[in-house]
This record gives sequence, C-alpha cells and structure tokens, in this order.
Amino acid sequence: MTTKPNPFQNALKQLDIAAELLKMDPDIYQMLKEPKRVVTVAVPVRMDSGEVITYLGYRIQHNDARGPYKGGIRYHPDVSLDEVKALAFWMTWKCGVVDIPFGGAKGGVICNPKEMSRSEKERLTRRYTSMIAPLMGPYIDIPAPDVYTDAQTMAWIMDTYSQLTGYRVPECVTGKPVSLGGSEGRAEATGLGAAICASEAANAIGLNLKDATVAIQGFGNVGSNAALFLAEMGCKIIALSDSRGGIFSPKGINPLAALRYKEKTGSVVGMAGCDEITNEELLELECDILLPAALENVITQENASRVKARIVVEGANGPTTPEADKILYSNKVFVVPDILANAGGVTVSYFEWVQNLNRDHWNLAEVKRKLEEKMISAFKSVYETSVKYNIDMRAAALMVGVGRVAEAIKTLGIWP
Ligand code: NAD
Repeated sequence: MTTKPNPFQNALKQLDIAAELLKMDPDIYQMLKEPKRVVTVAVPVRMDSGEVITYLGYRIQHNDARGPYKGGIRYHPDVSLDEVKALAFWMTWKCGVVDIPFGGAKGGVICNPKEMSRSEKERLTRRYTSMIAPLMGPYIDIPAPDVYTDAQTMAWIMDTYSQLTGYRVPECVTGKPVSLGGSEGRAEATGLGAAICASEAANAIGLNLKDATVAIQGFGNVGSNAALFLAEMGCKIIALSDSRGGIFSPKGINPLAALRYKEKTGSVVGMAGCDEITNEELLELECDILLPAALENVITQENASRVKARIVVEGANGPTTPEADKILYSNKVFVVPDILANAGGVTVSYFEWVQNLNRDHWNLAEVKRKLEEKMISAFKSVYETSVKYNIDMRAAALMVGVGRVAEAIKTLGIWP
C-alpha cells in the first residue's frame, strides 16, 4: 500500500532544493523552514437544524519579509495543518516569482461546504473571520479565495472585518465581487495566467497551440477559465473532470457548453457526446497539454511515467510530488510549476489591493494587459534560470522565488 504524500514534506524538500542551488545562509534556511505564525481556531457554527457544530480552522502565516502575508482560504473535508502549511510556503515563493510585494499565508477550515446551506456557510465564514481578525488586515494579512470559497465568501469576510473595525475596509481581502471593490478580471485571473504560461511553454518547446490537445483535471474556477482561454487560443479541449469523474471526447469539448452543463447538473459527468473516464485516466491521456487544476499529489512516482502530455501546467497547488518531478524531467515533459503557473490569481489580487488602497477601479483591458506583462516576465525569468543552470522549471522557479525572499530577509536583518 502506498501512503499519501504529505504536502508539507514536499514543500520542505522543495525548499531544500532551492537552499542548495542558492547556497543559502543556514540562518535564513532555519527562518524559512517553519511558518512565522500558526493559528488554530475552533469555530462554533449554529446549523439550520439548531444544532451547533464546531469546525477546526487554520491560518498559517509563513513569511512577510517582502510585504503583508497573502493567501487564500480553503473549505474542504481533507484540509489539514500540514496541507495549509505547505500552501502557505508556496504562497511566499509564488509572490517572489511574480515579484509582487506580498509574503505568504494560507487558511483552511475542515468542513464539507457541499453539505452546508448558504446561511451555514455565511455563519461559518463570519465566525472564522472574527477569530482570525486580530491577525489580519490590509497591511498585515490579506485572505483570498481558494478551493470551495468564492467572491461571496470574500464579501462576508470583508463585511465582518469592516463591522469589527467600524468602517469599510475593502483592502482587507481580495477576490471580492466587483460591486464591493473587487477587481475586474480577478475571477478568471488564475485560469488566464495558466493559459498564458501554457502558451509560453508551447513557444519554448516549439508546439503550435492551434489544435493542440488539452486535458484538464478539475473544472472549477481555475480549470474552467483556463479551458475557456486555451480554447480561445486555438487549443482543442479533449478531457475535463471534477470531483465526480471525467469526460473525454477526441473531437473536442466546448468549454462554455461544459460550464453551462455543470451549472445545471452540478458536474461535467454525463455531458452528451463524451465518454466517461476517471480522474486517474485523465492524467494519463495522450495529449499535448495536461492541466491539473484540482488538488495536491495527483501526479506521483506511481503514475508519472504514464503521463503522456508534452507540457504540464500546474493550475493546482502541489499536484506533482518531488519524486514524480524527477520522472517527468527525465521523460522530457515540460512542467510549468504551480508557483508560476497559477500566480495569475495572486497577481490580480495584488492589483485589487492597489486599486482598493487608492480607491481606484481599472478596466478589464488594463487588468489583463498588466497581468499578461507580469506573467510573461515571470515566465521569462524562470525559463532563463532553468536554461542557465540546466535545471527543471520547478527548481528554477524556486531559485527565483525563494531567492528574492532570502535576499529580503538578509537585507532586513533580525530585530532586535
Ligand atoms: P474550485 O473550488 O473552484 O474548483 C475545484 C475543482 O476541483 C472543482 O471542479 C471540483 O469538483 C474539483 N475537485 C475536487 N476534488 C477533486 C478530486 N478529488 N478529483 C478531481 N477533481 C476534484 O477551486 P479552484 O479555485 O479552481 O482551485 C483549484 C486549484 O487551484 C487548487 O489547488 C487551488 O489551491 C489552486 N489555485 C486557485 C487559485 C484561485 O485563484 N482560485 C489561485 C491559485 C491556485
């Protein structure tokens, strides 16, 4: 029996890779290998039935050398302390890779939002926010959406924090609805960033995007938006999936039709004209681009050698284990690592924060132009680093991201 890889152990292995390549000062390594602050909260929620359920939640603040802590909040039954710690690490490196002035954090609540009513989710969100409120704020720690949280969740967080503060503080959270100070383009930013990375990676290996075949695991915010942008770029989406299973059609799936179908039925499974496949089979399909956009540890040493895609674009955080990385690299699969591939979300979150602080609102064209500029420049730095040091794209992204954080720590020194 294989044991499930621990995402925090994976994150530590990745830090070790970066530390070795950067010849990192051991004092700085010590400071980076643990989060600066770990908060556990027990969140009591009165359910619609009248009963009270106490949910366990976390907020992990990994590092703030380059700016306020930043990172999403996940609602999922499998949330664990180690998972949230790993996700907080990756946020720190990610903000370094795209060179935005944020540190890294992450939050999570162990719950099953699919079994909760809207008002139960609202009460959970507001109570959780009130319990982390002393540690958050526009210059301290700024949450955002992640798996099974969305713009509505962010609106409740903003309102709760504002009620506690006494005035409206839109800049305390990003990923809000546009009507409450959210940025144009935030909802689709991670998917667009991933699509831009896919296009840059295709350029790098000489793959023509026209009719390039794409398989996407996870058809939520990231996966569905990436599908729409990749289809716009001329790609053929041949497979999609969600938590209930996957669909496959060699003729191509219209992502907009799949989105409408999922909105109606709750899943892509059952869409007309498609064969059903499992989430595992999807990863091993014959295709040009594979985009894991669901959860961690789906490409492991067990299945990595069966991945046939030429490019893997990690829309999800941590989908590939370090052991699988080595196999993909030796099989010449071009991996665009998560801390680059899905950095579009935090980049537009940064734009949202800047707009809120300035009480400004940019139009969609401006947001997209600025996002494209950031993503292409980050891809270029990572790709050039990978060529210069003859290392894979993940090691290169870690060198860039972790390197910037280590440099900031060194320059700041330790007070007192
Ligand atoms: P989401 O909740 O919108 O969508 C998640 C999707 O994954 C859903 O379609 C769900 O059905 C599917 N899913 C859940 N469990 C699954 C399983 N076991 N197998 C296959 N599919 C499964 O979440 P999202 O915001 O799209 O996030 C997806 C990934 O992208 C996560 O790893 C998240 O950390 C990462 N990410 C998200 C953002 C963002 O801006 N939303 C930014 C960076 C990274």
